[in-house]
Amino acid sequence: MIKIPKNGLYSIFLFFLLVCLSIIFIFCRRYFNKKRSLKLKIDSLQEQINLLSDENTRVLKTQTSLQEKISRYSRLKNIIGTLNQSLDIEFLSRSILEEVANLIAEGKGAVLLYGINEQTHNPVLVKSKKEDPHSVIRAKEGDIFDFWVLRHTSPLLVEDIKKDFRFDPEKLRAQDLRPVSSLISAPLVSQHRLLGILRLDSAQPGTYSQDDLRLLSAVADLAAVALENAQIYAKTKDLAIHDALTGLYTKGYFLERLKEEAKRVTRSHSGFSLFMLDVDYFKKYNDKFGHSAGDIVLKQLAAILTDELKDFYPLICRFGGEEFCILLVGVKKGQAKKIAEQLCVRISHAKVVLRREETFFNVSIGVAGMFEDAVSEDELIFKADKALLLAKEQGRNRVACA
Ligand code: GH3
Ligand code: MG
Ligand code: MG
Repeated sequence: MIKIPKNGLYSIFLFFLLVCLSIIFIFCRRYFNKKRSLKLKIDSLQEQINLLSDENTRVLKTQTSLQEKISRYSRLKNIIGTLNQSLDIEFLSRSILEEVANLIAEGKGAVLLYGINEQTHNPVLVKSKKEDPHSVIRAKEGDIFDFWVLRHTSPLLVEDIKKDFRFDPEKLRAQDLRPVSSLISAPLVSQHRLLGILRLDSAQPGTYSQDDLRLLSAVADLAAVALENAQIYAKTKDLAIHDALTGLYTKGYFLERLKEEAKRVTRSHSGFSLFMLDVDYFKKYNDKFGHSAGDIVLKQLAAILTDELKDFYPLICRFGGEEFCILLVGVKKGQAKKIAEQLCVRISHAKVVLRREETFFNVSIGVAGMFEDAVSEDELIFKADKALLLAKEQGRNRVACA
């Protein structure tokens, strides 16, 4: 048996211990190195996750805002459809308010539609829609914000009235008592013509955004075109039934109404009377004082007819030139003759002042009664015309009956 000295055993033991410790050290180093590199990887992955999550939030936001935009544009398309439906100003004004209230700020606050007064050029409240039906809009002719929009003909956003340096706080205090803290407003402009203002306001500050203002401006542009078309249509319709010089009904409209009235009285067996009225020696008047003076006479005569006969709710028309036709519903021929005689007298006393010179004119009137003189409207006109001729033959400035 080999005997190992004690010192040798120690040395072997120490050698093994050293080897073991070295192995443990190497493993530990590898383990910590690995751990550090994994941590670095985790950190970098976490960073990537954060970046992706930010990106995701951004994409989601864009998606939501795009969806909102798509829905707003589709509502705008619907508005175009609604505004194209009608040429009635009342219908259009109501629709504009409804659509704006639904489209922007979900019906919060008030929506106001102003027109422009043709004489004063100031805004005039046409229609409003309020969240609180008890609040009263006192600024019926607009406030400083509406005047700002008129002056600049551009849209306005006020996020907080108290903090907006563009508006004088003194003037604000004297404003409408309605609690208004924020507003958006856009002018209604069509073909460079200012037609009004479309405005939304709220008692809360910061209710509206730039996006809301852009949308309001888009609606205002559509509304302006629709309102202008409706105004042109109303004017054209009015011109078709009203004579431009005297403002009385035109012959075409009068004949239509006369026909309706004849049908109605045939059913009810009541009656009506017709006057055919003509200015005497009007050619001479024109020759002496000029055509414009003749126009003044025609206008003045129209005003006298309207005033003198107002209690009988007459239908008065300019039949042509200096000839007028008047329908008096429910008036029998006997009473009609007396009314015509009074009319003749009043007209003969009416002064027409031309450059400080007083001038006068007369009329002759032919009277005919429905059922008393005729059974149809054509026959009635013929009879009244014949009576007028008789009045002329008898010397003018008088009444003759059929
Ligand atoms: P009578 O008493 O027989 O009715 O004679 P008169 O001169 O009134 O009738 P006449 O038919 O000879 O002349 C009608 C005149 O009315 C001729 C025309 O110049 C004038 N007249 C028609 N329309 C207008 C108008 O819109 N303005 C003016 N100023 N004159 C008109
Ligand atoms: Mg005449
Ligand atoms: Mg005549």
